[in-house]
Amino acid sequence: GSSAAEAPLVAAVDQGTSSTRFLVFNAKTAEVVSQHQVEITQFFPKEGWVEEDPKEIMRSVYECIERVCEKLTQLNIDLSNIKAVGVTNQRETTLVWDKVTGEPLYNALVWLDLRTQSTVERLIEKTPGRNKNHLKHKTGLPISTYFSAVKLCWLLENVEEVRRAVDQDRAMFGTVDSWIIWCLSGGKDGGVHCTDVSNASRTMLFNIHTLDWDPELCRYFDIPMDILPKVRSSSEIYGCMKSSSLSGVPISGCLGDQSAALVGQLCFKEGQTKNTYGTGCFLLRNTGPTPVMSEHGLLTTVAYKLGKDQPACYALEGSVAIAGAVVRWLKDNMGIVKSTSEIEELAAAVGSSYGCYFVPAFSGLYAPYWEPSARGIICGLTQFTNKNHLAFAALEAVCFQTREILDAMNQDSGVPLEQLRVDGGMTSNRLLMQLQADILCIPVVRPNMAETTALGVAMAAGAAEGVNVWDLTAAEHPEVVSEKFEPQINTDESEFRFSRWKKAVQKAMNWET
Ligand code: ADP
Repeated sequence: GSSAAEAPLVAAVDQGTSSTRFLVFNAKTAEVVSQHQVEITQFFPKEGWVEEDPKEIMRSVYECIERVCEKLTQLNIDLSNIKAVGVTNQRETTLVWDKVTGEPLYNALVWLDLRTQSTVERLIEKTPGRNKNHLKHKTGLPISTYFSAVKLCWLLENVEEVRRAVDQDRAMFGTVDSWIIWCLSGGKDGGVHCTDVSNASRTMLFNIHTLDWDPELCRYFDIPMDILPKVRSSSEIYGCMKSSSLSGVPISGCLGDQSAALVGQLCFKEGQTKNTYGTGCFLLRNTGPTPVMSEHGLLTTVAYKLGKDQPACYALEGSVAIAGAVVRWLKDNMGIVKSTSEIEELAAAVGSSYGCYFVPAFSGLYAPYWEPSARGIICGLTQFTNKNHLAFAALEAVCFQTREILDAMNQDSGVPLEQLRVDGGMTSNRLLMQLQADILCIPVVRPNMAETTALGVAMAAGAAEGVNVWDLTAAEHPEVVSEKFEPQINTDESEFRFSRWKKAVQKAMNWET
């Protein structure tokens, strides 16, 4: 039988930009048996700076684990049914810690952080032809503030404790996955220092063809290679849980959040595509075993490698920095909503932005522009404009940005997508889903199970050699129940609004000149 009381269970840590979650899945039905979520504080110490506290991140992980274990015990489910733990995480966010004391040496520099803008400009200035794609043939990425290498450069150049730890051979670098796995597997008492290919491919130090750290890239950014974690596949036993109620359970899955969502949406075949709406927005298309280089501003990234002896699978990716973050900004900075879900009602009350366009280029613009000096802009205001219109324009901005990356994806692949699979925290907003279908002019399909990111890494963990409680072959996948949003406006209106949006983007790019 597969009732939760006896079925094998697989757990997932999902450490996102805005919150940490811990979920336990039934490995036979893929149903969520129990879950817990804790918000994470984001610090904005200076304009453009975004940090999180690595210790708060670990406290939130342990709190979520313990609360879920209590809930399972209340449900009379034996914790020994949990056969594996997977870790999925916000990508690129950069940490350095001391391996002797176990202490972080600085706050985590969050992917959105812009403090490296001048470093990036200096690096691009030095390349032949001022080409931001100078390292793209190896990394699949443009030189940008987004990726870990420049953030690590900043820590090495500006934080005395980091420099000293490197000199004394005590420093460890990692993205959030590495930090969590190191801590969970024992920390300073024998923790495992590793990452997986999907996370490594976002650092700009990783060669996506050889699937290893690249000495030339490390020299380019002046990064000592001995502080880097060991790169492993996305599905294998890395180590075991050392403390917490799950002590002894293997940690056997590791995927960056966008890769995990791709797996959780069962996008295993070439051409299959999903878009995730969280803090930012990330559209990934599976391109199979060969990396495809974009001509239209998309990234090439390692999607996953599901087992030591399995081939790596690649993806083309359109990344948008600000999606749900604009809603959080309207709540925290402007106070026009008390909760992020309130925005739906506010926007629905007017049903239009009345000509107001909002380009939330708070962290520059990512795909397809890669312009770090772009800044946010709200235009088309009249005496009539009120907070409802602004709320509507903010939701529309998320949809227009997705339209831009989908257009780029269609141009790169030559095969227009017929419908878009979506997930992520923002997709609970039905108005957003309808607007997205209207602006893309194709149906938007949302699975009823919202936690696809956690599911994806649970699948990877459960399928690992030595765990073997989850079968990844397509025939075994449980039925996915989903809802479809069909376009309801005509193409002319949709195109008109999109052309206005593009004008607004040009102003956000050049607002200083
Ligand atoms: P992340 O993985 O980046 O932490 P989540 O997938 O948890 O993000 O989604 C959280 C984001 O979604 C937040 O930025 C929040 O503002 C936004 N959000 C959550 N619910 C809604 C909603 N009903 N309408 C609009 N935005 C929402």
